[in-house]
Amino acid sequence: MESQNQSGPALTDKDPMAKKLDYTEVPSKIKDRPEKMGVAGTAQNCSNCQLFVGADDSDQPKQGQCLLFPQHTVKAKAWCRSWIKRHLEN
Ligand code: SF4
Repeated sequence: MESQNQSGPALTDKDPMAKKLDYTEVPSKIKDRPEKMGVAGTAQNCSNCQLFVGADDSDQPKQGQCLLFPQHTVKAKAWCRSWIKRHLEN
């Protein structure tokens, strides 16, 4: 797999698209996070989202890149409404 460069400024909830998707580094602020694909809203975050690519090879990267926001980094503990359940990796 091609290595990816996870750099760029941290995404903030001021970004127009992030705002539309309710992106937040403090997911508990969003009270109506819906259950998706059998995962409770409270259990969803970037690190278990299919669109997240960790910034390093550790099992628990603190930040990474979201395929929706390629110019930014996102926090592993953040969340947005486009969350999709991560498939198990080989
Ligand atoms: S799509 Fe997934 S990785 Fe991207 S900001 Fe939303 S929850 Fe985080």
